[in-house]
Amino acid sequence: MGTDKTSTGIDLAEARLDEFAARAYQAKANAFGYPVNHKSRLIGFYKWLMGSGVNLTMVNNAGDPFASDDALINTLEFEREVIEYFGPLFGFDKDDLWGIVTFSGTDGNNHGLYFGSKYLEKKTGKKPIVYVSDAAHYSSRRLADMQNLDLALIPSDVHGCMIPEELDKALVDDRPALVVYAIGTTFKGGVDDQDALNAVLARHPSIVVYRHLDAALFGGYIPYTQYRDILDRKVHPFDSVAFSGHKMLGMDEPAGVFLTTMEIKDNQNPYAVSYLNAHMPMVNCSRSALSPLKIWWIINHTTKEDFAEQTAQMLENAAWLKAELDKLGWPAWLEPMSNTVYFKRPPAEIAGKYGLAPDHDDRLGGDLSHIVVMQHVTKDRLQVFLDELKTAM
Ligand SMILES: *Cc1c(COP(=O)(O)O)cnc(C)c1O
Repeated sequence: MGTDKTSTGIDLAEARLDEFAARAYQAKANAFGYPVNHKSRLIGFYKWLMGSGVNLTMVNNAGDPFASDDALINTLEFEREVIEYFGPLFGFDKDDLWGIVTFSGTDGNNHGLYFGSKYLEKKTGKKPIVYVSDAAHYSSRRLADMQNLDLALIPSDVHGCMIPEELDKALVDDRPALVVYAIGTTFKGGVDDQDALNAVLARHPSIVVYRHLDAALFGGYIPYTQYRDILDRKVHPFDSVAFSGHKMLGMDEPAGVFLTTMEIKDNQNPYAVSYLNAHMPMVNCSRSALSPLKIWWIINHTTKEDFAEQTAQMLENAAWLKAELDKLGWPAWLEPMSNTVYFKRPPAEIAGKYGLAPDHDDRLGGDLSHIVVMQHVTKDRLQVFLDELKTAM
């Protein structure tokens, strides 16, 4: 009788899962509002995983991918190869590169703020002030609060970019500066002007500066475009960068990449951990072993030309959408280098159907929405949206 009860329970549970899967599959066709790639290419990975035995094993990347310890069952060697793939795309030299696969863009920013503040404290004996624009993703504000760091929120212009004169006014000369540059703001896709902001910092030579780049979405595609210099630390010096794995790259669950230099990593609060036989500068002990493996699989099954093609398509479709909205006379904007078109907010039924995130800017007439033109957001689907918008006008 026990068996009966259990099998009925399993049938019910599976029916619920099927129902959820059907809903998720249907919803992704119209998921226009958030910067995630719904075209996962991990089919081959899962085929391998299910036959591998690894799916029945607890694999854990507790440890430093650059000091890998074979005593534990981990994928640190693959994680290190992921870091070594991305490092050079951001201008890091292979012999002065350190990083981890993170749980998310926010986790990467957490490491940027933590590594930056510890580094600056070690160099200057003082806690830094975090400078970030009010258009940047809220995670930097949340994390500064969490890490008990003083924060200066710098006003942004109408394009979502930090205003250099406002940074100048806010800088405190006898405290180190932990500057977070937004390389692609969440709502408008604005890119902080590093040249102009660095020129402001240079006018305050007494301030020791650490620069962290929040490139959650753009970090996944800018390296494959003509704009790659904005994320090249040899052209625009920075100390660390974070981006998400589930935005451009096509991960099927949240993940990210955090990159920095050995020099920064070696000037942290080291916490020698005897039971791991290691120095652990990062925030987490246990970390995902599957995420690095999936990203490793993606970069080993996607050529740079393929990433470049996906990117060109996204940017072309975004420009097309902006032009079509212009034709309709619907107020719309698209920043350079961005795949995010933002526009006057459509009626609630349309915004709801497409999951369009809301924002508000009085300088642009009030309520706004945006469409993030990711890989699954095709012209055909955008045309349906435009037709619906037209009938609602
Ligand atoms: C999405 C995003 C984040 C947060 O990343 P998660 O991976 O969702 O934690 C941070 N900054 C920017 C600019 C983003 O677009």
